[in-house]
Amino acid sequence: MRDPLEVLRNVYGYPSFRGQQAGVVDHVVSGGDAVVLFPTGAGKSLCFQIPALCRQGVGIVVSPLIALMRDQVEALKQVGVRAAALNSSLSREEFDDVRRDLVSGSLDLLYVTPERITTPGFRDVIGNARIALFAIDEAHCVSQWGHDFRPEYRQLGELARLYPGVPRMALTATADPHTRDDIIERLALTGARVFISSFDRPNIAYEIVERDQPRQQLLRFLSRHKGASGIVYCLSRAKVEETAEWLEAQGIRALPYHAGMERGVRDANQDAFLKEEELCLVATVAFGMGIDKPNVRYVAHLDLPGSVEAYYQETGRAGRDGLPSEVWMAYGMADVIQRGRMIDGGNSSDDVKRVERAKLNALLGICETAGCRRQAILAHFGEAHAGQCGNCDTCLKPVDTWEGTEAAIKALAAIYRTGERFGTGHVIDVLLGNDNDKTRRFGHTEMPVFGAGRDLPLKTWQSVYRQLLAAGLIRVDHDAFGALKLEPDARAVFRHEREVHFRKDRPTGRKADRTLSSSAKGARSQLDEADMGLFEALRRKRMEIAKDLSIPPYVVFADTTLVAFATLRPASHDAFLDISGVGQAKLERYGDAFLDVIRAHDG
Ligand code: ADP
Ligand code: ZN
Repeated sequence: MRDPLEVLRNVYGYPSFRGQQAGVVDHVVSGGDAVVLFPTGAGKSLCFQIPALCRQGVGIVVSPLIALMRDQVEALKQVGVRAAALNSSLSREEFDDVRRDLVSGSLDLLYVTPERITTPGFRDVIGNARIALFAIDEAHCVSQWGHDFRPEYRQLGELARLYPGVPRMALTATADPHTRDDIIERLALTGARVFISSFDRPNIAYEIVERDQPRQQLLRFLSRHKGASGIVYCLSRAKVEETAEWLEAQGIRALPYHAGMERGVRDANQDAFLKEEELCLVATVAFGMGIDKPNVRYVAHLDLPGSVEAYYQETGRAGRDGLPSEVWMAYGMADVIQRGRMIDGGNSSDDVKRVERAKLNALLGICETAGCRRQAILAHFGEAHAGQCGNCDTCLKPVDTWEGTEAAIKALAAIYRTGERFGTGHVIDVLLGNDNDKTRRFGHTEMPVFGAGRDLPLKTWQSVYRQLLAAGLIRVDHDAFGALKLEPDARAVFRHEREVHFRKDRPTGRKADRTLSSSAKGARSQLDEADMGLFEALRRKRMEIAKDLSIPPYVVFADTTLVAFATLRPASHDAFLDISGVGQAKLERYGDAFLDVIRAHDG
């Protein structure tokens, strides 16, 4: 049996295991089952790849997306691992090749889809081949509770019975307790050891802004990311297309992605995102699962996601390589109303709707917090964080708060006096004393609350209502066309038994937007002027090779490895091999090409 550390060093070229990787690897190498709950970018792949290489036989990896298997297999081949994928896109010949390699024991890893693995056909293919382990990737797909439920995953519980004695692993970056319990139960992993790491992603900077002029705000955000790739999430397909078109017109390379597009175009856009280095992919949530592009430098949300879980999953696609990355969201009251309508209008049971509403409110609380965003997010997942992370908008630029009990009482009174029958727009009109058709028609111009809020501007009242909502003092009734209603807790405010503090909205606009810009440069932030030229030359070489082989550039070398080349400037094969991310196979394949670039630059 091969030694895990020897494999890590010689095959992958990494000097040491990270976090709990070593623990997982040892456990599985010695035959144990494991549930691995690490955040994106923590290095889950090595947790099953290395045991598969150390143990006898082939490691079988269950992965939901055929389109992405190809890249994973390619990345493995690049480091000299004998890997293949078995799926419906194979030709007869390719299929026979895989089968032959399996029979002769010359495969280290085999990727398969969940629907195939429990079929008798698959048993025939496997034949007498020895199996090193089963790794179930994206294991949260087994849970209806999660957002990527795949019924085919349910069958995977059968593996324990079909292949007794073979170690099984489930891996995911979704760790809420409900999903976790589902995974353990549905995949028959009650005896497995559970490995959980912190879910913090310290290299990701968080920012959430009030939506004002969304397109201009987005443009300013993207201007901090010239030369990088990222994702912009929108709620609707129409908005995806409009936004992508508009960005193109602004001179930003952008492509759309959503489930309603023609398959060929959609796959081509995904492929472009993986292979190009400066591309903004505008997408619905249909995009992203299984995308392991390590240098996604930013994720922007133009609409409020459905829950903190979804937000964390989507933003988590930034910065897998550990380099500084930035996520940004613009939101407003309209999102809250729209999301609420989606929940109430759906045909789920009342219990499910209640849970969904609670999830939405939890996200709203994070949007409206005056404290550290990271602390609030991690608290949602049951993880304590001391706050003051220094890498979120509220930490970098603390928000002021104001004593708003009187304003809250006025805002609540405007709802109450008008009969809890109107939405935000109208009650604000009443507070501001706007004499218009609607206020007159309902006799609201005659009420004492009419004009009672003239001391504060429109924007402040909008912010007050958002925060009353986030605090659970009011709710939006979607059955009554978005009318605001008082919640029981509002009574204490009316009676002056409860003080209310509001967060002061930040001024939006050019200057105000620049809180996080210094941390957003990814690899370039790690380099000084002198090394930057070499880094760019190395990047060009990497792109040339990637294009020739038709593979994503990061499969050749990661950005972090290029940074090390540019700063350490290895001059010999040995020095090259010493760099993290260079194993034997890559030294042989690419060593001379990159050493030449370094030499030419130094000479
Ligand atoms: P996950 O699947 O958990 O999101 P990946 O397996 O894609 O994460 O790993 C993220 C990145 O970290 C990859 O580029 C991977 O090569 C790198 N990586 C993983 N483990 C190590 C390690 N021990 N040392 C250095 N880099 C590592
Ligand atoms: Zn913070």
